[in-house]
Amino acid sequence: MEFMFDDEQREFRDHLARWVDDRLVPVAQELDEKGEFPRELFEELGGLGYFGVLYPEAYGGSGLDNRNAHYTILCEELARGSMGFAAIVCMHASTATNTVYQWGSEALRQKYLVPALRGEMVAGFALSEPDAGSDAAAIRTRAERTNTGYRLNGTKMFTSNGVVADFITVVATTDPEKGLKGMSLFLVDTGTKGFSVGRKLDKFTTHCCDSAELVLEDVEVSEECRLGDEDSGFLNAYLSLTIDRIFTAALALGTAQAAFDASVAYAKERQQFGKPIGKFQAVQFKLVDMLATLEQARIYTYYAAALADREAPITVEAALAKIVAADGANQVCQKALNIFGGYGLMNEFPVQRFLRDSYFPMIGGGTSDIMRMLIARQLGF
Ligand SMILES: Cc1cc2nc3c(=O)[nH]c(=O)nc-3n(C[C@H](O)[C@H](O)[C@H](O)COP(=O)(O)OP(=O)(O)OC[C@H]3O[C@@H](n4cnc5c(N)ncnc54)[C@H](O)[C@@H]3O)c2cc1C
Repeated sequence: MEFMFDDEQREFRDHLARWVDDRLVPVAQELDEKGEFPRELFEELGGLGYFGVLYPEAYGGSGLDNRNAHYTILCEELARGSMGFAAIVCMHASTATNTVYQWGSEALRQKYLVPALRGEMVAGFALSEPDAGSDAAAIRTRAERTNTGYRLNGTKMFTSNGVVADFITVVATTDPEKGLKGMSLFLVDTGTKGFSVGRKLDKFTTHCCDSAELVLEDVEVSEECRLGDEDSGFLNAYLSLTIDRIFTAALALGTAQAAFDASVAYAKERQQFGKPIGKFQAVQFKLVDMLATLEQARIYTYYAAALADREAPITVEAALAKIVAADGANQVCQKALNIFGGYGLMNEFPVQRFLRDSYFPMIGGGTSDIMRMLIARQLGF
């Protein structure tokens, strides 16, 4: 893998890996058990500047040349420590803030983007609704014009960081007749009258990254809070969501790496029939197959990130990276559980968490089958 990274990227990974090993790995189990937003860690990582990887220095960002490759490293390394924590950061510091950077006024950037990159505010992105997941065109959240801006009404589902977010980019329909072409993006400050968290969803995976049902009841936003042109919302969101597939693939890689590392260590330590279980060829073969899956997925994911950094088209590559890495990580984690035997099912061992968390990248940001559909469409079907 060394051939894929330059000195700057290697140094970036090394620094971050030290933070992950010192600060995240030791508390990952506790974060999973508590299922609460880890504010202290979030603020600490923001203070170290990692939320600015995708952004220019003028807004407190890092001003990096290969920003997508660096962000891929960030997502992978954090997920090696905790997929839940990585999911919080991945959403916060990419799509949820990118919409403000790309289409927000200078005043909105100063008010929301700059503190968010310092870790002083939390951001979310709300597209999915109770009856609109894969079929984004079915969203019902409505934004109607008022004298001063827009009035939003609707319900959002599965919004990551939704319980704790200070601001959320909400996708709403400005022209229901036009389907996907009639949507717009709105920055909603969660302190606005009419905005509420309907419920925090209790879930199987990524426990410390909350998933919320959000209710918007006559939420009034100014014209300035519309991010981008009216009716351009889906197209704009789509660009950001496409790159996000690479970052979601990176989350899968991190968890698969953690599962692989834990399995190698366990296979060397666990004794049965008078020898470490790693001495049995059946266990060795599982480990080698896990490594093969992981390395293929990693090479392809960083290839897609490199294409994104060159501003090459990535519709197929980002979707392929997500399939290969997400489905691959799930297989790696299943094998890890097998290697751990009965202990794999015990909560005191982390492999059950790795397996639960490995389901998130297969669904969040579009299911693996929706990725297959996108690619098939590019093949002319
Ligand atoms: C942990 C988590 C975090 C999330 N975070 C966010 C977030 O921050 N913001 C946000 O907006 N959304 C978020 N989501 C929502 C996520 O993007 C959706 O769950 C996902 O797009 C799938 O939608 P759905 O759950 O409604 O499933 P559905 O669309 O109902 O799909 C159910 C099944 O049907 C299949 N299916 C659907 N349509 C087709 C088709 N045409 N052809 C073949 N198969 C099909 C799917 O592949 C899937 O297997 C999150 C989801 C999860 C689980």
